[in-house]
Amino acid sequence: MATRLAQEWFTICGGCEVTILDVGEPLLDILPKLEIVHMPVIMDHKIYGQTGEKTAMEIPEADVGIITGGIRSEEHKQLAQEMRKKCKTLVAMGSCACYGGIPALANLSTVEELYEKVYHGSVSTESNGIPNEQVPPLTDRVYAIHEVVSVDVKLPGCPTTPELFVNAVTALLEGKPFALGGKSVCDECPFVREKKAVSALKRPLEPIAFTPGEPMNTVRCIMEQGFLCLGPATKAGCGGAEGTPRCIRAYMPCRGCFGPLAENANPMVDMMGALASIGLDPKQIPDRAATFNRFAGAQGRLRPVPTKGGKPS
Ligand code: SF4
Ligand code: SF4
Ligand code: SF4
Repeated sequence: MATRLAQEWFTICGGCEVTILDVGEPLLDILPKLEIVHMPVIMDHKIYGQTGEKTAMEIPEADVGIITGGIRSEEHKQLAQEMRKKCKTLVAMGSCACYGGIPALANLSTVEELYEKVYHGSVSTESNGIPNEQVPPLTDRVYAIHEVVSVDVKLPGCPTTPELFVNAVTALLEGKPFALGGKSVCDECPFVREKKAVSALKRPLEPIAFTPGEPMNTVRCIMEQGFLCLGPATKAGCGGAEGTPRCIRAYMPCRGCFGPLAENANPMVDMMGALASIGLDPKQIPDRAATFNRFAGAQGRLRPVPTKGGKPS
């Protein structure tokens, strides 16, 4: 019997849905085993009935439910609860769903500040007031899915990788559990660490030092070369079977898209420690809270910034 799959998207860019398309040929092996019962990105199945005849949101029963995006409105909250109620196994896909992702950078501002900025303060917007009819109210901040309903499987990444998606779905189809380990991106990086930086922090657009064709395990750690790399505070897993993290493979620093090392980890504290341990001054980094929590601003990691008078700026 086919596995029933439901998928919903909340505060997203669509990149995680593109990841599913990017799976390529392995998708041909998976699709015959699935019966997709709800997936707004590819099918016209409406949550209030096809003609809007229902008064409550309804999603069909499913074996596996996948949610992309974090929670930013009361509608998302209710939909997450409905998905949890109807899906035996619930998967949070992408760092927006797992940790708030890029949209949770807005947690540095109050809802009132966001409305003011978008509907009044923007030079490109003719102000017609704040829309309040036929639109769901915003929640006070962006929430990760597991802050609202329990989640069984987390697939981080911005976007998550096709390989991780296939591995997770294949495990779930076989009735096996799926979870990423506790390693960091540094643990899977082949670059050489000597535990001290060769220079002060540099501008990110300068090239890193390596000789084309040189084996990766002789190239100096990007951070020790003076470039900010979030590998020490970021969960491993983007490298898949190959192991080497994806950005490192391209000789680029890790931006932290797989999120914190553990549920309650604080990437800002972890990164300040990592930078200080090799002699780099973390205070040189502007906008530190947002830089170190770029993909993980839910769960209280990013909050409105108070001004001297006690009010948010
Ligand atoms: S995790 Fe990244 S790719 Fe996925 S929806 Fe969020 S912003 Fe888009
Ligand atoms: S800081 Fe970055 S470049 Fe250095 S070892 Fe860690 S992941 Fe690799
Ligand atoms: S190296 Fe870092 S930023 Fe790049 S894909 Fe992996 S976790 Fe994401």
